[in-house]
Amino acid sequence: MEPKPVEASDREELRELQSERLRETVAHAYENVPFYRETLDEMGLSPDDIDGVEDITKLPMTRKEDFRDEYPDGLFAVDDEEVARIHASSGTTGKPKIVSYTDDDLDVWSEVVARSLAASGAEEGGTVQNAYGYGLFTGGLGLHYGVEELGATVIPVGSGGTQRQVELMTDLESDVFTCTPSYALYLAETAEEMGYDPRELPISTIIFGAEPCTDPMREEIEERLDVDGIDIYGLSEIIGPGVSCECHEAQNGLHIWEDHFYPEVVDPRTGEPVEEGEEGELVLTTLTKEALPVLRYRTGDLTTLNYEECECGRTMVRMDNVTGRADDLLIVRGVNLYPSEIEHVVLDIDGVAPHYRIDLDKENNLDVMELTIECEEDLDRSKQSLEKEIAERLSNVLQFTPDELNLVDHGEIGRSEVGKVQRVYDHRN
Ligand SMILES: [Zn+2]
Repeated sequence: MEPKPVEASDREELRELQSERLRETVAHAYENVPFYRETLDEMGLSPDDIDGVEDITKLPMTRKEDFRDEYPDGLFAVDDEEVARIHASSGTTGKPKIVSYTDDDLDVWSEVVARSLAASGAEEGGTVQNAYGYGLFTGGLGLHYGVEELGATVIPVGSGGTQRQVELMTDLESDVFTCTPSYALYLAETAEEMGYDPRELPISTIIFGAEPCTDPMREEIEERLDVDGIDIYGLSEIIGPGVSCECHEAQNGLHIWEDHFYPEVVDPRTGEPVEEGEEGELVLTTLTKEALPVLRYRTGDLTTLNYEECECGRTMVRMDNVTGRADDLLIVRGVNLYPSEIEHVVLDIDGVAPHYRIDLDKENNLDVMELTIECEEDLDRSKQSLEKEIAERLSNVLQFTPDELNLVDHGEIGRSEVGKVQRVYDHRN
């Protein structure tokens, strides 16, 4: 499907629209959210000081902790009667972050998800099988209404029940499947066990989100299921899934729907903007949200922005596939490592299956890392040579060698049927 005109806007016109919407958002937040009013007052800032997006760095940043401190509804900017729906993001510790939507917010959400689906290659009249969890989590319902907005059929299966997923997609001829990347691999394995050839399943596109996906992982999914693997991105604090999505033409970065969300990239340590094209932490400002306007939210996700023209015709900026989080950083004996860097090195090696786990511990006050990696089912080389290659590559590329490297047989590392897969186990505290 052709991109909508706004997705291919002239950048100058887009900037004017963003500036106008930013002024409205700041005024709305200042008038209706005591948290923002007090913060701006303390900084000696008035909404009138913000003329356009060029002034955005004057504004305060919003952090995860602010949602926690203002729990449950301190950040809401509308009266209860205007709130049409509530969602919450699963906090691993403590209270969840509660988020809210007016009717208009829900329309915007459906619109940006529909745009994302169209970019992924989903068609009006097609069938989308949604395996994101329904309920308070924004994944399930967020995708659901976007599919309807696109004019496709939605099969609201939700997460889990993998055999049933396989049967339904076969019987109902689903074109598109939505899930986490680790679940896509689990689906392929389950289909195989059931006697299907995963490449013969009717799906032609898998849209994955909620979990980072490195390029080798994506290639593995595309190869095993004969699909296009498309990355979608979003977070509840901003709206849910549909903040950005890859186009199937380029599959090279996720177009951010900039008429609704304004992106910045900052140095995670200082909060200062980085040079264009440099990696840093993604910061997002909502431009049209009514129930929960958010100024300069620090997502914790590491990415870079790419303003080059895209072959799909969209002019909206692309963010790199998020493979690391500012707070995922592992410091092991003083070496800074992201799990995604280890994944990148290891999964590229012949004979390695895309399942691994990292265990961190302390021995005699020293950090110790144990890396466990699964071998491919039909491994056609010796484990010894594989182990040697893994150790050498890690040492060459990352200047790092795990204290213990275990190669295990296919299927030995636990799979996650529901929710996000856990790969790092830090036992140091
Ligand atoms: Zn594109």
